[in-house]
Amino acid sequence: MTVILIGGTPGTGKTSIAKILGSRLGCDVVSMSELADASGCISAEDKHRQTGIIDEDCLVEALIDLVENKKGRVIIEGHYIDLVPSSSVELVIILRAHPANLRVRLASRDYPEAKIRENVEAEVIGVCQMDAIEVFDPNIVYEIDTTDMKAPETVEEILSILDAEVIPLRIDWMEELEAEGNLDEFLSD
Ligand code: ADP
Ligand code: MN
Repeated sequence: MTVILIGGTPGTGKTSIAKILGSRLGCDVVSMSELADASGCISAEDKHRQTGIIDEDCLVEALIDLVENKKGRVIIEGHYIDLVPSSSVELVIILRAHPANLRVRLASRDYPEAKIRENVEAEVIGVCQMDAIEVFDPNIVYEIDTTDMKAPETVEEILSILDAEVIPLRIDWMEELEAEGNLDEFLSD
């Protein structure tokens, strides 16, 4: 079995894009947060909070189980993609969005301001990208800037990456924001 991973900061479009990609490729889509929940890897106390604490060992077990028992391809989307056994991973897509755009997307979710800031900062720094490059072969880690894209366009881009050998591009919001002169706006001290 091979795995396509879709990662990124909350609000970058993982869930929506994984669903469309799954129907285009005719393969199953697994949400890591649903898997964690269904496998009892989230403590009951945290379940109803906006941020649940996940038992990573438990989730790793659940992922190994999943990968061993599935045939063909599966798309796994979520926030803990670096827990997926790397030997089964064919492609890693990290969805990115300009911090100003991400802020708008997260605000429309009624996230508290502190949670918006935290996520926007993580996107500025590139936390998901750095984690992915550390854990997986950087040659299979692709970033897509979704800022000016609709979800179906992003899916087309993923399909074209699967089809051809494209060189992965690296996105650096720090550099861009610095050039725009508004890095300070997005980082707290
Ligand atoms: P995640 O699973 O990464 O938190 P979701 O798919 O749940 O992201 O939500 C992404 C939100 O951003 C949706 O409300 C979606 O409509 C919006 N959005 C705006 N532009 C895009 C895009 N290019 N790709 C995906 N989602 C987008
Ligand atoms: Mn999601």
